Amino acid sequence: MLPRSLFKYRRILNDGRRFLSHTPQKQDANPVLEYFHSKIKATGPISVAEFMKETLTNPQSGYYMNRDMLGKDGDFVTSPELNQIFGEIIAIWFINEWSALGSPVELQIVELGPGRGTLAEDILRTFHQLGHVLKDTKLWYSFVEVSPTLSKIQHERLCDSTSSKSSNGEEKWYLSGKSTHGVNLQWYKSLQDVPNGKVTIFVAHEFFDALPVHKFVNSDKGWQEIYVDICPDDPKMKLRYVVLPKPTIASRTLIKKDENRNQIEVSPQSGIIVQEMAQRIVADKGAALIVDYGHYGTKQDTLRAFKSHQLCEVFSTVGEADLTADVDFKYLKQSIEDYNVTTMGPIPQHVFLRNMGIDTRLMMLLRSTTDEDVQRKLIGSYEMIMNPKQMGERFQFFSLMSKQRLEEVSVAAFIPNS
Ligand code: SAH
Repeated sequence: MLPRSLFKYRRILNDGRRFLSHTPQKQDANPVLEYFHSKIKATGPISVAEFMKETLTNPQSGYYMNRDMLGKDGDFVTSPELNQIFGEIIAIWFINEWSALGSPVELQIVELGPGRGTLAEDILRTFHQLGHVLKDTKLWYSFVEVSPTLSKIQHERLCDSTSSKSSNGEEKWYLSGKSTHGVNLQWYKSLQDVPNGKVTIFVAHEFFDALPVHKFVNSDKGWQEIYVDICPDDPKMKLRYVVLPKPTIASRTLIKKDENRNQIEVSPQSGIIVQEMAQRIVADKGAALIVDYGHYGTKQDTLRAFKSHQLCEVFSTVGEADLTADVDFKYLKQSIEDYNVTTMGPIPQHVFLRNMGIDTRLMMLLRSTTDEDVQRKLIGSYEMIMNPKQMGERFQFFSLMSKQRLEEVSVAAFIPNS
């Protein structure tokens, strides 16, 4: 029996009917939806991971590819967009890790999913303000960004205009330049393209939640994968979830034997990326900070859509809304347990930021201005990112670090695992 909570997933009848036998009239000209209609009609239902990947990053019409979705006029807002202190604190955490790595003379920062470039701008400004600390260190700041539109926004914002270059196809980066303070900036499509060989600190803020998840349900037939199909008899050809009657490669390989939830989401791509980070941290030294909303292997059904700051039904706004799934930090941790890295967290955002001294920094900024409007904005955004009922508890900080790191420099903000 399917649990009641899964009633919305209507089962494909086990009668061999895999495709729609009729062709209802389409009423909307939505290229993403049309792509799914043709694909499903031609080859049958698709996995939720494929649905998510195509919706978000299809090169022609993916949600991330040709729009700026962040901010008041977009679909969602993020902590670095809200308050500059967020990026400043992350910069300080990086400097602490750099120092614990023996203050290497070359340091690469790799940011995955940089959005509008706000976090990078705040980090680079803080590095510049603390220039005496990093004065003998050559810095590279590399971005992993799939979106042509967002990379253009990041590039315009961060690069001094005289130094900008597009790749001639021979390099692995597709854009490069120098920041106004002379730091080398490069843009890559994937983490595999980013050169190794330098001590590297990674940061991924609201990146992993955009990576595709497979969905599974445990019923009297065992674990089955949830797929996406077209609603039969619906003139608008809306999409819907269905449960596949037969096992898939994913349902055979991605579920842990001791799994005790009824329903789960697994993101193998997230596992691969965190393994790539771990491998580089072991080989080159470094650390990683992963910040996202998430859980520790407890939640079941988190995939959702956001449009204009409103939660909406996943299939009602295909291609026009952000799709996001909570990050399973336990899965990330398990994915790298055979690698020689230490992990810390996840700990809630408000704990991390408070341990890093956000309150003192807020006081300094408030004292630096008499403009009440600026002060009000600083306090309002502080409240949003810190209040446990808002972003303070939902967002979690998780980190990876090399075991070769100096032990006398404690890891800032995290309480060491026993
Ligand atoms: N870190 C930013 C933006 C978060 S939105 C912030 O917190 O404000 C997610 C970001 O990840 C966007 O920049 C999006 O284009 C990028 N992204 C999403 N999927 C990606 C993928 N598969 N590869 C590389 N970048 C991706």
